[in-house]
Amino acid sequence: MERISGWEKWDKKTQKEAVDFCEPYKQFLSENKTERLFVKKCVKIVEKLGYKPLESYKKLSQGSKFYKINKEKLLMVGTIGKTPLTDGCRLIVAHIDSPRLDLKTSPIYQDEEFCMFKTYYYGGIKKYQWLTIPLAIYGTVVFKNGEKKEFVIGEREDDPVFTITDILPHLGKEQMSKVLSEAFPGEKLNVVIGSIPDKKSKKNKVKNNILNILKSKVGMLEEDFFSSELQLVPAGKLRDVGFDKSMVLGYGQDDRVCSYTAFKAHIDIPTPQKTSICMLVDQEEIGSPGATSAASLFFEFTIEDIIERSGLKPSNFKNVIQNSQAISADVGILLDPNFKEAFEPRNAARIGCGIILEKNTGRAKGGCIEPSPEYLAFLRDLFEKNNVLWQSGEMGKLELGGGGTVATFFAKYNIDTIDCGTGVLSMHAPYELTSKADIYSTYLAYKAFYK
Ligand code: MN
Ligand code: MN
Repeated sequence: MERISGWEKWDKKTQKEAVDFCEPYKQFLSENKTERLFVKKCVKIVEKLGYKPLESYKKLSQGSKFYKINKEKLLMVGTIGKTPLTDGCRLIVAHIDSPRLDLKTSPIYQDEEFCMFKTYYYGGIKKYQWLTIPLAIYGTVVFKNGEKKEFVIGEREDDPVFTITDILPHLGKEQMSKVLSEAFPGEKLNVVIGSIPDKKSKKNKVKNNILNILKSKVGMLEEDFFSSELQLVPAGKLRDVGFDKSMVLGYGQDDRVCSYTAFKAHIDIPTPQKTSICMLVDQEEIGSPGATSAASLFFEFTIEDIIERSGLKPSNFKNVIQNSQAISADVGILLDPNFKEAFEPRNAARIGCGIILEKNTGRAKGGCIEPSPEYLAFLRDLFEKNNVLWQSGEMGKLELGGGGTVATFFAKYNIDTIDCGTGVLSMHAPYELTSKADIYSTYLAYKAFYK
């Protein structure tokens, strides 16, 4: 297919709209780097717009706006449309978790004069990219009595940050002769968190000093790490890239770029034709195995609840669900000029050329949901009628590529589903690169889908 950049195709006004759209986008992603924060912020926004908890509705009717939170990490927002619910819904699902470093269950220890954290990497990362950069900690500590304490260290100008060391090149001969997959073992992703000893202690002086700080600042003891969630993510804000400021660099754009645009599209349509649902899920980066993932029965239970509160029978579930259409809103990959050999140029998506519709996300066709040509034709027509800049994409060369998305969990209900999202370069790196033209196109595409 022919691809054309939005910067070439659009008039000045549309270009400015795209640039302006990305200002609040950068701020939103800079301030909401965890699932919990993302959910909390979205709830704050929808409450202001008059959305109410699903449970609070005795009867849902046209224009009813509701939300439902699952364990603070998954959010569903919905608006009842003009057509009967049995005609189906328009569903967009995006994930709000991103690759990061989590703490091990017993994480804190002293080694030489350092106090350190042991970590687990969450999601598929290239480990070397996470060394020597400033990291911030987002913590949720849950005490035995159920009390909860949340904190962030490393995002304010005067905050300290945390970091993982790397061997200096002068001593790196052995490391540099290894293959990448072996040169950076996960057990070396240990984070430096302090170096001042507690003079009163006999041993583990530095560790004890840090434990004292944690006790006084956060109120937590060493044993509390077990029921805590401490996430290490790249510190700092999302930034513009390029002399022309056409791109955005920053953490967590996979997949909060699609989460943000889907959520924004949803709230910007007051009363949609069909009932519109936006679901922001967790745990995609680890394969969607848990209660807050897209595979969780939370989805089914909540749809059942919506059906009941709309005055329909439980047996209507199959009509509602099978008449629905879904977008698995996840990021796509873009041709990288530094690694052209990984792409097949005819089928690779290009930066700035719009949202990517992906027929195939698997390794060759393995694991792909195979959207029907009928559904593809419907979307193509929808996007063109609404002036949405779009392109097709794929996962790179056949034997190289492959990745999972949440699409299968919705396709299994016999819902027409497609993977459709913003292109990203340096995916899963601490700082990912996107185009403002693509971010704006994603928003316009999701809006057209809901409308
Ligand atoms: Mn993703
Ligand atoms: Mn990912």
